[in-house]
Amino acid sequence: MTKVRQSTPAIDPWLDFQALCHLGGRLCGTSSEVDARLYLTRRLKKLAIKYGGRFASLPIEYLGWSATKGKIISKKTSQKYGGQPLLYSPSTAPGGIEAHIVDLGRGAESDFRKKEGEIAGKLALVRHEFMFSRSHIHRNQKYEWAVEHGACGFLIAGGPDLEGPVSGGLGLRGATAAIPAMGISHGTADLLGSSIENKVRLIVETSTKQCKTESLIYELPGEISEWIVVSAHLDGHCLGQSAIDNATGVATAIAATESAISSLTPKRGIRLCLFSIEEWGLLSSKHYVSSLTTKEIESIMLNINLDSVAGANGLAAFFSDYSKLGQFLEEIASNCNMPLELHRPLVANSDHYNFAIAGIPSFRLLAGFERPKTNMRHVLTAEDTIDKVDQAQLQLAAHFTSQVLGESVTRNQLSLR
Ligand SMILES: [Zn+2]
Repeated sequence: MTKVRQSTPAIDPWLDFQALCHLGGRLCGTSSEVDARLYLTRRLKKLAIKYGGRFASLPIEYLGWSATKGKIISKKTSQKYGGQPLLYSPSTAPGGIEAHIVDLGRGAESDFRKKEGEIAGKLALVRHEFMFSRSHIHRNQKYEWAVEHGACGFLIAGGPDLEGPVSGGLGLRGATAAIPAMGISHGTADLLGSSIENKVRLIVETSTKQCKTESLIYELPGEISEWIVVSAHLDGHCLGQSAIDNATGVATAIAATESAISSLTPKRGIRLCLFSIEEWGLLSSKHYVSSLTTKEIESIMLNINLDSVAGANGLAAFFSDYSKLGQFLEEIASNCNMPLELHRPLVANSDHYNFAIAGIPSFRLLAGFERPKTNMRHVLTAEDTIDKVDQAQLQLAAHFTSQVLGESVTRNQLSLR
């Protein structure tokens, strides 16, 4: 391996990061997501003017969704508590659902089994977990168990160290869910879940309509017909500024791309893909990869996917079971004198998944793996804001990404499959 460059990236991601955060949460279908696409379109077009290459927009239609009401009312005290309907939740009947809550604690499979006979016709209450961990059980799995056990609704509560409700999708890839689902705060769950008088009225009001968005692509061909794809999702959540998830990834992707094209003569082409509707079941990247021919798929030598890359010290790479890729990343991290946690299994938690299952070596870079006390815990809450990200963390992510990109576009042979 050639010696990697030791300098910090030529382009600082901090300005793009701040600009995206100030536009708002960027839930797909909202004005902040449209504004983010406009900002990023201008940004990528400027790259094409300055360095050559081309910009393209790939339109995509999807089933849009929005929520107008989310609340829960105690039957005993008539006290109302706010909540955040989960993405693709259906509405309750206009007056709501009146039912008892069954508190399933964490909501592991064993918790569902223990209360097997008590769940049907009730609202299943489970807890949100720190997502960047090996032991994490995803809300989608808990939701499926709730449906299987006949629950009439699904409630997921934030942990004791989180303010307010949690948001998130139901992983349904463009279809509405079976039963209403809402995020609530830890305090609301404590008050309502453990009470003997836990009969409540759940009111969720949501609507769907056909919508359009686009993937934004900038590419600069190299000397040979091979490509390195750098990707990040530009969409976010309805709460907060989606700063960690994923203004950090988008800003890092742009900075690493610009650093590489401004300082190197790439042998391979660099393609920067900014996807939307990632939070909706990885829809844009799925659409993009399925639009490629076999030859085009074979020409992509690596996908570097950046999702939630700052918000804690320490980076990890999920390398999707591509052994040679794991070794490649380990060598680069070691040359940078930088610790890098390597996680082997293929995980369907970001856009790299769609590249990986198409046979393209792909990894997701992320911060804070197995560090539940860091700011990474705020992802999916109103606290995922600009102040949770340290500039040095973001620069480190951009620096490491630049090293991986630089090495992968310049080395003579790149065989990671
Ligand atoms: Zn994300």
